[in-house]
Formats: sequence, structure tokens, C-alpha cells
Amino acid sequence: MVSRVIPVDSFDLVVFGGTGDLARRKIFPALYRRYVACQMPEDSCVIGAARTDYDTAEYRKVIGDAIREFGGSAAKEDKKLKEFLARVHYVKIDAKGSDGWSDLAGMVRKDLVNAFYFSVAPGLFAPLAERLHEHNIASQTSRIVVEKPFGRDLDSAKDLNGILARHFDEQQIYRIDHYLGKETVQNLMAVRFGNILFEPLWNSQYVDHIQITVAETVGVGGRGGYYDKSGAMRDMIQNHLMQLLCLIAMEPPSRFDPNGVRDEKVKVIKALEPVVPHHIVRGQYEATKTQPSYRDDAGDPKSRTESFVALKCNISNWRWAGTPFYLRTGKKLKARASEIAVVFKDAPHAIFGQEAGRHRNILVIRLQPNEGMTLGVTIKEPGPGGMRLIDVPLDMTFAEALGPEVADAADAYERLIMDVIRGDQTLFMRGDEVEAAWKWTDPVVQGITDRHDVPKPYRVGSTGPDDANLLMKRDGREWREIRE
Ligand code: NAD
Repeated sequence: MVSRVIPVDSFDLVVFGGTGDLARRKIFPALYRRYVACQMPEDSCVIGAARTDYDTAEYRKVIGDAIREFGGSAAKEDKKLKEFLARVHYVKIDAKGSDGWSDLAGMVRKDLVNAFYFSVAPGLFAPLAERLHEHNIASQTSRIVVEKPFGRDLDSAKDLNGILARHFDEQQIYRIDHYLGKETVQNLMAVRFGNILFEPLWNSQYVDHIQITVAETVGVGGRGGYYDKSGAMRDMIQNHLMQLLCLIAMEPPSRFDPNGVRDEKVKVIKALEPVVPHHIVRGQYEATKTQPSYRDDAGDPKSRTESFVALKCNISNWRWAGTPFYLRTGKKLKARASEIAVVFKDAPHAIFGQEAGRHRNILVIRLQPNEGMTLGVTIKEPGPGGMRLIDVPLDMTFAEALGPEVADAADAYERLIMDVIRGDQTLFMRGDEVEAAWKWTDPVVQGITDRHDVPKPYRVGSTGPDDANLLMKRDGREWREIRE
């Protein structure tokens, strides 16, 4: 099966922070792959802008190396890479000073789509926005892309929104959460709203509970100092897991358009009840014989920041009252696996008797690895010997169903950057949405601080602290196994 490429208009994309980690690992490889997929019109350009003293030839070498390292199979085509690099330019710029701005002004073509990717620390958003206007580089049709973290609490998020709003309208601002660019996440909407099968069952009458797990095997490593100031609650729950929860729980928008979808997501966040203290479990990974503990990585032997969090939350609305949502995320866990599991209730009457066992339908949406969906259905175990029931998965792994090229092409950054060029904000967070998410997160974080809560230690390679399992057991439920 061949994927259909929807053309975009010619564009100039400026990547501020163009020598940084994100630009090299994600942004440029994504752009290159879109170029190979013939989605980057001939006269489009990408301009890297950063503090390093490169000329364009040196920069092209840096970007070429990055694409070879992180660009996947597409990066093996030397001819294509050369063609792509011819469209890459560089300008040395100081976000806080005057260096480079008039050069940039001479490079960005106003008659094309202009986008500015702020792949820099949030402290540089204000000076970048100011200078783009001062030098008459940005116009009313320009787009800016900003990365997480979008604030560290409600006040700082409001400040950032205020800074951007001084120079750009909300329709020009694209706040990236790359989880929303994942193929399966969008498929979740397609499955929910494109089929008649699921929506009638998508409520507390039929859904027992929903689990969202984002498990990582890596620790905080070199980012320890930065991570220690945020922790899993701010770094993962407030954004990625909250976004997934919104898509699972939201009402069908009347149209699949940016504000239709985002209005419904905001309503979900606003309906979230506060998390009570005994519904949250925090953890920190312990040292092994060969690996450092979280506290070692954080460089603070007394750190109380969590590298793991599991919590139960409730949504107060007609659809979900009575169906809990369990969220769990952590580092140095057993496997790298992100999934959403919708666990349906038991059939109302067990006609096959107790000996047939308890069987439940579970819809699993796997985000990584092996993006796809599985619906567990109950059938009769083949062979003689009575009515014994077993659960079998109806499996739709994208790589199997659609072919490896299509599954391979589904990189979140590729899709999101092309959405920016197209001017489609559906998969980006709106300012009020980010603020609503902080408004719910802040009291949870404050409560942890006020209680002087100490995270529970957990073994590297485990599923997190035992208390996380108790959180489920108390409700007569259990987490799904974490496996790749
Ligand atoms: P980085 O430290 O690797 O790169 C920072 C870039 O900013 C460099 O290109 C540097 O030259 C440039 N820069 C710094 N000060 C400057 C100045 N005064 N003028 C002009 N340029 C300046 O950072 P990164 O990891 O690439 O992250 C960039 C942003 O993306 C951050 O906000 C980060 O939180 C966010 N982010 C990064 C990742 C990731 O995987 N790296 C993931 C999600 C979000």
C-alpha cells in the first residue's frame, strides 16, 4: 500500500536552536523524510538559526550527519540528501542581541508560507518574538511553533501565553505535543468517530475503567538537573498523558476542525476532579550494582522528585461519572511501552457458568512500539470438552495491516511540521487548554509538597513501586503487564 502525499504550499521554515539536540534528532530528519516523500515543494527552504559560528557549508555538514544518524532508511539515499541539503541555510543569530537579524530578514521570503520553530529554551521565546517583529520578519500570516515545557505551573504558562500573545494571534501559535502527532493517536479518533461500533459503548455504562501507561526504560541520565525541577507529574502527566486522556474521553466534536476538537478537549480537562492524596503514588528508581539511582542522576541525594507516578482520576460528567481513569508513567521500568487500554465491563449475565471464567473485552491502543490496536474478544476454546472460553486478540498492527512503509512514515514530527505549513492547528494545544491542564496539575503538585511526600523506591526493570499495584488492587482491578 502506498501512502498518499497531500501537497503543501512552498515555505520558508526558520529553526531557531537549529544546532540543538531536538533540531538534529527530530526536526531535520523529519523534514528530510518529507522531502523524500515529495512533500517539500522545490523552492522551499529551511533556515537554521543558532549561536554557533558556522557558515552554511559547515552547517549542511552538521545537518547531513544528523540526518544520516537519525533519519532512518530514507537517509541512505545520498542523492536525495544532497538535494535536500541544498535547501538548508544557516544564519548565526543572537536571540537576545542584534547579531544576525538583518541577515535573517533578507533570507525569509514574505510571499511564501513562513514558519518559525522556537526550538530553544522558553526563556528565549520573548526576545525571539520581539525581534521577529522589530526586524519586520514575521507578518500576520506567519506561524510559530513552540515546544514543551509550556510553563511549569499555571502562572508561568499564563506568562508565556501573554508573551506570545503580544506578538502573535492564537491562530498563529502551534504548541507541539508530539504524542498528538502519532498515527495511533489520530487513529483513536478515527476508530471512535468513524465507526458506529464503539461510540454507543464509550461511556460509564459499558466501560469499567481506562488505563493509560507511558513506560520508559531509560533514566533521566544527563538531563537529571533539569528533570529534577519538574518530575513525572509536570514532565509527562500534565501534557502527554493528559492529552491522551482528553482524546479518549472527549465528546464527538460536530466537525473535525481545530477549534471543534480543542473545545471538546478543554471540556474534559475542566471536568477532571482534583486528585485525592491516596489516589497518587510516586516513585524513584533505586541504584543497581551497575547503574545509578534517580538521586544520583539528579545530583541531589535528598531529591524528592518523582521518576514514576501512578494516579487515579475521575471525570465529572454524564459520560464518565463512575469510570475511573488510571494513569501511570515512569523511567527505568521493565519495558518501553505506551498504551491506552479501554477495559469494558463484564457481560451482564454469565450464561456459561462460573467455570467458564471471567472474560472482558479490552481495546488496547498501542502508541509505541508496534503502533496498532487490539480488541480482545471472548470465544470458545476450540475442541471438545464443553464451553470453555478464551480471549483472543483481533489484531491490527499497522506494520502488518498497511505495510512497513506506511507504518514507518508515521513519525509524529513529520506530520506535525507539515500541519504547521498547512495551517492546521487540530493536533496542537490551544493556550486555554494548556492553562486548564496546569490548573488541574498545580494543586496535585502543591499537595505533594505540603504533605512532604517522599517517593517510594522501586527496582530498575520493575513496574514501579508496589503501592502502584495496590492503587488498582484496592479497587479490585489490576494494571496490564508492561511489555514491548
Ligand atoms: P539544546 O540545548 O540542545 O539547543 C539549544 C539551541 O538554542 C542551540 O542551537 C543554541 O545555539 C540555541 N541558543 C541558545 N541560546 C541562544 C541565543 N541566545 N541565541 C540564539 N540561539 C541560542 O536544546 P534542545 O534539547 O534542542 O531543546 C530545545 C527546546 O525543545 C527546549 O525548549 C526543550 O525543552 C524542548 N524539547 C526538547 C526535546 C529534546 O528531545 N531535545 C524534547 C522536547 C522538547
